Amino acid sequence: MISAEWWRKNDDNSVSCFLCFRGCKIADGHCGACGVRFNEKGVLISPYLGKFCACAVDPVEKKPLYHWKPDTLIYSLGSIGCTMNCPFCQNYRIARPEKTLPLTHEITAYELVRNVRDLNLDSVAFTYNEPTLQAEYICSCAPVLKENGIAVVLVTNGAMSSEAASEIISCMGNDGAVNIDIKAFNDKAYRMLDGSLGTVKSNIQSFVQAGIHTELTHLVVPGINDNIDSFAEMVEWIAAVSRDIPLHITRYFPARNYHEPPTNTELLYFMASIAKGKLRFVHIGNV
Ligand code: SF4
Repeated sequence: MISAEWWRKNDDNSVSCFLCFRGCKIADGHCGACGVRFNEKGVLISPYLGKFCACAVDPVEKKPLYHWKPDTLIYSLGSIGCTMNCPFCQNYRIARPEKTLPLTHEITAYELVRNVRDLNLDSVAFTYNEPTLQAEYICSCAPVLKENGIAVVLVTNGAMSSEAASEIISCMGNDGAVNIDIKAFNDKAYRMLDGSLGTVKSNIQSFVQAGIHTELTHLVVPGINDNIDSFAEMVEWIAAVSRDIPLHITRYFPARNYHEPPTNTELLYFMASIAKGKLRFVHIGNV
């Protein structure tokens, strides 16, 4: 079993977790806000490390990554849990499961290499749910993946703590790639999603500065982040980090507890025209 990292025990037998920005203080017998990290008698355990409920081979463009190994397939794994809590989550059945899901794929580092190689692939994506929750597994697999020329991709909400981000970055090396969700560009919207804009901005900068190929996804959700001024401000900020960061502007469909109609496609095209004035690569998705 892989041990959980990024935590400390407190005097009252609670534990404090530092894997993501939330910094949960977890009482004995309880779990953190992600639903997958538990305090068992003063020890933080993460029983789903290395265990997955979804396993597929996807085109890399589906992550979405359009400027990294184009036209290739990628071995893709998803587990359960999330460090945010979006009411419109498009993957809520595994990110925020209401009942216990069977984690049918328990995969060691060597089995992971064999699975990827048997399919003649050279990359693996941690996707579908929040991959930060598999950080210890990803870092434990990294040396053997590297030895075998297998690159790591994360499709993430970018809400990991700076400590976790820097360890993940050094494990990935700069042959991997990330797609980071930038869900809105104001603190109020991020609070509605139980997230932290400041953390996401800082992690985007860290991945880019480390030389890891980074693309961003912005799901446009009516009533949450469809304000044009805020969108334009976000694009300015991305361009100041780098004009070469690809931005995917994607269409929302009703899901989980959010029932507004799908995003108006004209709005997506208008947003794309604004973004193209500042960024070199702008893509519209889910239309
Ligand atoms: S990963 Fe985040 S949400 Fe989960 S227990 Fe740790 S601090 Fe809390």
